[in-house]
Amino acid sequence: MTHDRAHALLPAYADGQLGPIRRFLVGRHITHCPSCLAALEAMQSMRTALRTNLIVHRAPPGLAARIGSAMPRETPPVPIRRPLQWKLGGSALAGALAGVALTLMVTRQPIPADPLVADAVAGHVRSLMADHLTDVATSDRHTVKPWLSARLDLSPVVKDLTTDGFPLAGGRLDYVAGHRAAALVYLRDKHVINLFAFVSNDPADAPPRQESRDGFNVVRWRTGGLTYVAVSDVEAAQLLAFVRLIQNG
Ligand SMILES: [Zn+2]
Repeated sequence: MTHDRAHALLPAYADGQLGPIRRFLVGRHITHCPSCLAALEAMQSMRTALRTNLIVHRAPPGLAARIGSAMPRETPPVPIRRPLQWKLGGSALAGALAGVALTLMVTRQPIPADPLVADAVAGHVRSLMADHLTDVATSDRHTVKPWLSARLDLSPVVKDLTTDGFPLAGGRLDYVAGHRAAALVYLRDKHVINLFAFVSNDPADAPPRQESRDGFNVVRWRTGGLTYVAVSDVEAAQLLAFVRLIQNG
């Protein structure tokens, strides 16, 4: 047995958890490896010290029962099937149950707000409030696209959707979730749609996902290495129709 292998097995050896063959091989290695022998001795004296010096407080009688009766009983106890118990053994079963408890705790947590969506909505609101909707105000996509490309390392899809009822108003530079972003501004009647585009952290494509935040509808998707986020107060169905046009039209 190599030194590295034996060294890795030392804790299990000290605990008596190795099978007969590995126990023999590790034991034989230790007899001619001062380094492993020293490590084993250090491990054993640490254990002895812990055992003798730890102060153990005994719980007063009835404490466990009192804690048990004070616990809320909203969820039924996890059923323990005997065959499982038989197969897993004590500590593995405890680990499995702890895993179940952890899963329950995690799934009960409220889903945290996505910073990307929050940032896109903030950018949308800012563009309306600060009267800074566009840096380049034109409905001509042949002007908007090169203007943005010259200032960013990306070339987002820019479409003329006037005949579909989503005229292009212009574009500007923005900043979303730590990314320099292109913001394309489209109109729907009197409503504004901000379409943000920036280089994705995740290069994989992702289909459109619609959600709502602070009264705005948000649709985001990834394609061609860019993340797109459309934000508006138009109805979700209209925003999704707009996104389909941007994607396919
Ligand atoms: Zn060794």
